Amino acid sequence: MQCVNVALETVDVKHIYKTQTIANNASSLPWNQNMEFPSARQRISRESMLMAVAQIVSLRGTCQRARVGAVLSRDGRILSVGYVGSPPGSAHCIDVGCQIENDGCIRTQHAEANAVAWAARSGVSTEGSTLFVTHSPCLSCAKVLIAAGVSKVYYAEPYRLAYGLSLLESSGVETVHLEESRHVV
Ligand SMILES: [Zn+2]
Ligand SMILES: [Zn+2]
Repeated sequence: MQCVNVALETVDVKHIYKTQTIANNASSLPWNQNMEFPSARQRISRESMLMAVAQIVSLRGTCQRARVGAVLSRDGRILSVGYVGSPPGSAHCIDVGCQIENDGCIRTQHAEANAVAWAARSGVSTEGSTLFVTHSPCLSCAKVLIAAGVSKVYYAEPYRLAYGLSLLESSGVETVHLEESRHVV
């Protein structure tokens, strides 16, 4: 299946967050008369919204090598999220350093696998779901996603190794590159 490139709309999350925080501190609605409500023209797509969520989720990552965030969705709604980090109860890279083997950190579980694991843990089916992820999946995560029945993957940045994308595409999982004009967070 062919990879499709789609331009990711600009989402100024920092601005939105800032204005909402100011509004909340003022004990008023997030969008009051002093703030500019996004016009209909500025309304973002579901794809941009979910990728922006993935980028915010990535900020929870605990490995310095790559902050990756993932959102599993269906029909524009979120089923599960995940970010790169050690298994629950294990030491984090940000506290004890990365554990490097073969040019990769093996201390952490990747965001995509964590998102699938949380869905499994909470009894949510991932069959036919769509993944939004900040970096294209590695080979191991691609295998997990295929096995979990994920049918479409949107990614913002290509991972240094393209094997994962190749496997997804040859397995019938559609991949879409949401190109960014700038980082949203
Ligand atoms: Zn690490
Ligand atoms: Zn991975």
